[in-house]
Amino acid sequence: MGHDGRFQDSRRGLAHYADLLLVVCPRCGGRASVVPRPGLPELRYDTELLYRPRRLVCAGCGAMREWTAERRGNALVGITLGGPDEPFFGLPLWLQVPCCGQVLWAYNARHLDVLDEYVAAGLRERTGWPAMSMLDRLPAWMKTAGNRTEVLRGVQRLRALVDLSAPSDRPSAAAPRPDRATGQEPAGSPYFRSPY
Ligand SMILES: [Zn+2]
Repeated sequence: MGHDGRFQDSRRGLAHYADLLLVVCPRCGGRASVVPRPGLPELRYDTELLYRPRRLVCAGCGAMREWTAERRGNALVGITLGGPDEPFFGLPLWLQVPCCGQVLWAYNARHLDVLDEYVAAGLRERTGWPAMSMLDRLPAWMKTAGNRTEVLRGVQRLRALVDLSAPSDRPSAAAPRPDRATGQEPAGSPYFRSPY
């Protein structure tokens, strides 16, 4: 927030918030984390997060998965960020709730902080950089003044989920997926309940 109460966009892309993605664990259906593989050199650019090796870890059940970027020739093919699915393992994000007839989602608490501050601020400044920031790319329904109260309520609901991790805490919008690695159904999976 600027000195006069205006919100100033730090011009960060969504990749800046992609160092930690809270997701639905493919094994237990609780909250797991997708993080860059530990022990790698320090980041020079946020966009390196799009192709660095990743690790999924679940403190609840001990599940662990590894992801490495596809290689095409000498280049690594990075993932594309956006939407309520996590792009490395294809898992649903833990932080997602229905809001204004759409789905409000976020990667982690830091991402929520910025969304919260931006939506709450009535006056927004742009610095005129050519690159599109995460906030530039927010859909119109999140920026409409008429939806502000409902979007802020959605952000609060997501905030309450950040520290919860049991399968029973999982928001209903985040339906667990079968585990690609083991073919097993997570706890409480609607895929498991469905006869089809
Ligand atoms: Zn788990």
